[in-house]
Amino acid sequence: MNGQDRPSSRDQFGIAIICALTLEANAVFCSLDEIWHDAPQIYSKAPGDPNQYVFGRSGRHPVVVVTLPGMGNVQSSGAAAYLSMSFVSIELALLVGICGAVPYRPDGKDIILGDVVMSEVLVRLDFGRQYPNEFRRKDTILDRPAKQSHVILSLLKNWQSPVMSQQLHTKMMEHLITLMCNPYIDTEYPTPSSDLLLASEYIHKHHGVCFECSQAESTCATALNASCEELGCDPHMLI
Ligand SMILES: [Zn+2]
Ligand SMILES: [Zn+2]
Repeated sequence: MNGQDRPSSRDQFGIAIICALTLEANAVFCSLDEIWHDAPQIYSKAPGDPNQYVFGRSGRHPVVVVTLPGMGNVQSSGAAAYLSMSFVSIELALLVGICGAVPYRPDGKDIILGDVVMSEVLVRLDFGRQYPNEFRRKDTILDRPAKQSHVILSLLKNWQSPVMSQQLHTKMMEHLITLMCNPYIDTEYPTPSSDLLLASEYIHKHHGVCFECSQAESTCATALNASCEELGCDPHMLI
């Protein structure tokens, strides 16, 4: 598909990619085969839709990318609602981003930076009950969403087989290597000394010299951006 073969209207976009952070969106932009910079003037949005869209092509698929105005359920559900209002033919919406807090697989093996995580069910994290000392999530798994995609579920099942998973791994490495050569990707794998994982019950904060950090459950703003070495974190608490 070249410039002339672009969709003639916004109703012909079937794939959307949603990102919460600019950093994530930038990686998605760099992975596209083509970005149509003049497209926002061509594909007008539905009246009242405040989302900003970037249009392009991934392989033979026209794709629309939306970056959320911020993180959280309210921002994402609002943006998704406007997206489906402007683009009525979206069949696949991918939420693509950096995963913040899944250190282990169910079998206990580490998930490390660089691993790719694909979900196969939806879990309502904000649905549960507040107890005096904790929030307990209801074990509600939305594995039967209204519009369950047969194609996607079959694909995920396929990828679980060793043969297909190896093929996926090989392809993904090819794409990652291409992506890392892109001059607009300004990221690199951290050195072992800067990528430290502390036990979850241990708080990364000033240990000893700071009034705010000396209070239980409290951390000062400076500590959030300081290294463990600067703060005096206990090396024995490293995992
Ligand atoms: Zn402090
Ligand atoms: Zn620390």
